[in-house]
Amino acid sequence: MTKILVIEDEKEIVRLLKYNLEKEGYTFFAAYNGEEGHALFKKLKPNLIILDLMLPKMNGIELCKLIRKESKVPIIMLTAKKDETDRVLGLELGADDYLTKPFSVKELVARIKSVLRRSQDQGSEIESFQIGELEIDLERYEVTLRNKPVNLSSKEFSLLKVLLEAKGRVLTREQLLEKVWDFEQAPEIDTRTVDQHVARLRAKLGSESNHLVTVKNVGYKIS
Ligand code: CA
Repeated sequence: MTKILVIEDEKEIVRLLKYNLEKEGYTFFAAYNGEEGHALFKKLKPNLIILDLMLPKMNGIELCKLIRKESKVPIIMLTAKKDETDRVLGLELGADDYLTKPFSVKELVARIKSVLRRSQDQGSEIESFQIGELEIDLERYEVTLRNKPVNLSSKEFSLLKVLLEAKGRVLTREQLLEKVWDFEQAPEIDTRTVDQHVARLRAKLGSESNHLVTVKNVGYKIS
């Protein structure tokens, strides 16, 4: 299911897009102002956002900046203006593409497909790992050992993810603390917490736990 969130205050355009995107098999959601759009983005985690530039409550530029702080979700900007600076600004803020109104729906659908294809190509390289008989799907938050699910807590999963992303480099306990735990929320946490979680993670990884290596007096790595 590919979810598309359209953030646009012109009801005619929303109606037109809803009809055509649903016809293409996408699951369609709409927000009619910037604040509502931001709330729906957080709630729905859409696969792609179509974002109008001129919006009530929060404009498309502000919203684009806000979304980019939290996510790499593909964004296609819509702009009524022929003004080059707005388009350039949109792309600088991290929009993936833009269309100037009035646009043809056919053109928009073609852009959606190409932006989605690009984001999936980038995603597939980093989102899953295989280590021995372990498979880790970072996007789905799933770990399986010989095709059986391994139940990890969110901290255990983050720990594993951070170590995998280090691609065999050693991470110190302090680095792991910083990357996995939020100091401000839990100042009582120290490096022993890291050791305890590593121990629990190892226990859950069973026969593949030897890949999680202790580097004496330094930290941990995945081999
Ligand atoms: Ca508008």
